[in-house]
Amino acid sequence: MDLGLKQRTALVCAASAGLGFACAEALAREGVAVTITGRDGARLEAAAVRLRVIGPEIRTAVGDITTVAGREAALTACPMPDILVNNAGGPPPGDFREFTDAQWQAALNANLLTPIALIRAVLDGMIIRKFGRIVNITSASVKSPIGMLPLSNTARTGLTGFVAGVARDVARHNVTINNLLPGPFATDRQVAISAAASKASGKSPEEETAARAAANPAGRFGRAEEFGAACAFLCSVQAGFIVGQNILLDGGAFNSTF
Ligand code: NAP
Repeated sequence: MDLGLKQRTALVCAASAGLGFACAEALAREGVAVTITGRDGARLEAAAVRLRVIGPEIRTAVGDITTVAGREAALTACPMPDILVNNAGGPPPGDFREFTDAQWQAALNANLLTPIALIRAVLDGMIIRKFGRIVNITSASVKSPIGMLPLSNTARTGLTGFVAGVARDVARHNVTINNLLPGPFATDRQVAISAAASKASGKSPEEETAARAAANPAGRFGRAEEFGAACAFLCSVQAGFIVGQNILLDGGAFNSTF
């Protein structure tokens, strides 16, 4: 299927690895000019080199997307994106009692206020141009809270509420906003989660990873390229009627009839 995205521009945040990179890769394959961001300049450039093999035009913006300076760098490299993929690292796991106020504020900044700031920066241009696709990478924890991730549960649910309202306000301009909710995907983030879980269970991180993969209905973790393909479809011209949705990619781990 031709997704109708040739010569569109995309800003994909936190995309030198993992799910963000997979989204950038899938969009680059569709002929989108993609700007990727990340904090580590060398890692970001290495990712750009990989993308330039498949994509027509790949730019980079080094910086922490959760800071004003990082967002300015991203928007300078890609001032009028047709597509925005919001992403940033996830907050650390832990007991909610033990996080400081500064840690709570950092999580809210990274996973709630940062995507809202970027949406605010690009949305009106999309409305004027009558095309826009915004995809927020959130988490399965929005539907099914994860006890050891209280910072993530809280910040991402706030973003979900924000999107539910604004997505309906802008849909008539052919601007869609949706959330993609990853369950367990085989990225560096999972390595960190298995390490944290192993401290609590006494199992090795490898045993934790294997047990968690086996417990998934699909019998495995998701592959980043599966996530990227779903993101590219949500950005397609064909997806213009998908509005304000929260789409789980979790191998069926969330157990419900609907
Ligand atoms: P990852 O493998 O750890 O990749 C993170 C990427 O984001 C790297 O390129 C990293 O590069 C960049 N990054 C992190 N913080 C950044 C920041 N503040 N500014 C700019 N770039 C930043 O993570 P992932 O697994 O792809 O996860 C992506 C998101 O989905 C995270 O929020 C995660 O919590 C969430 N999620 C993931 C899973 C999963 O199974 N993987 C499940 C649920 C939710 P630098 O370090 O160089 O900046």
